[in-house]
Amino acid sequence: MILRTPDFYDEFRCIAGECKDSCCIGWELDIDDETFGLYKNAKGEFGERLRAHMQEGDESTDECNTFVLNGKRCPFLNDKNLCDIYINLGEKSLCEVCTEYPRFAVEYDNVLEKSMALSCEEVGRLLFERTTPVRIVEREIDKNPEYEDVETFYTDELRKARDRELFILSDRTKTMHERLEEYLGYADHIQNLINMEAGRPGGLKKGVDGRFSKKIIKEPSLREARDNFELRMSILSGLEVLDSEWSDTCKELNLHFSNSPTYTEDMKKFLSEPSITEELAIWWEALYNYFTFRYMIKSVYDCEFSMRAKFARLSCDTIRDMALMRWLDTGKFELADMIDVARIYSKEVEHSEDNLDYLADELLFG
Ligand code: SF4
Repeated sequence: MILRTPDFYDEFRCIAGECKDSCCIGWELDIDDETFGLYKNAKGEFGERLRAHMQEGDESTDECNTFVLNGKRCPFLNDKNLCDIYINLGEKSLCEVCTEYPRFAVEYDNVLEKSMALSCEEVGRLLFERTTPVRIVEREIDKNPEYEDVETFYTDELRKARDRELFILSDRTKTMHERLEEYLGYADHIQNLINMEAGRPGGLKKGVDGRFSKKIIKEPSLREARDNFELRMSILSGLEVLDSEWSDTCKELNLHFSNSPTYTEDMKKFLSEPSITEELAIWWEALYNYFTFRYMIKSVYDCEFSMRAKFARLSCDTIRDMALMRWLDTGKFELADMIDVARIYSKEVEHSEDNLDYLADELLFG
């Protein structure tokens, strides 16, 4: 197969005990059946300890195998924030989720695309510390496709279209505003071509490299900017809350910006703050790149290309609101803040299929 990843993929190393928000805290863990069987039969005292915390799933109610958490912590996370399963049984004994996280994969045809989630602060550091645009690299790997029977559509065309979006985003000869206008315009262009394929087959193949109109984004008035903010918050209010950190963040955002007479002025000041303007532009580019690489390719399963551009925009605008709030509260916004606001958003939105499905529905039909 061909493996495609962002160029920083291989640099990732879990910082384990050094991590401020370990992935072993605050999340219920789904244990795959094979690993669950292994734990059931584990020998000795540690096997007893494993079994004391295991809870078997139930297919009829869609409940997964899991460990009963110790408060919010995985019961095998020790007081040095290291994993006792890893220590006692070795890396190969970890379940699929623990082995893979923060990596995620999308497979289509003979291609496996892998990247890593911003809910992990170390991934955030790799993404936001760099100053050069993220590149996608590929290599052959010795692996057979696992999901050959899943139906896909226009894979070559949509992969090319996604890659053109990444190219548009990385063009630093233009402002981020200009790039965004092209990014959204091109997404609509591709969606139109997909929608017309039934009546005019082959249009998408020709149109992927073709000309398109950018989407003009006018500077919003205070009222429009606040309406946009309210709309984002109203959409996000329908998410299933996974952690109180998210609900607290939403409460604070509403307190700060609902009816704020200075929202647009504050945002302008923040984005042009001399000490961070350059970094901010690079961070927004990296964020858009992240959401585009990770999600846009999924349109090969459902042909919803422009919805993923809207999702990237909703995500980046929300993270920008969170960033503005921090800057107003503390008078500064640094790399650590960028990593943190992206982590909070990612943890809430990207790790729940229900939340992702809900947002897709809102952006398509809301
Ligand atoms: S969040 Fe990332 S760095 Fe932290 S423990 Fe999990 S994988 Fe390691």
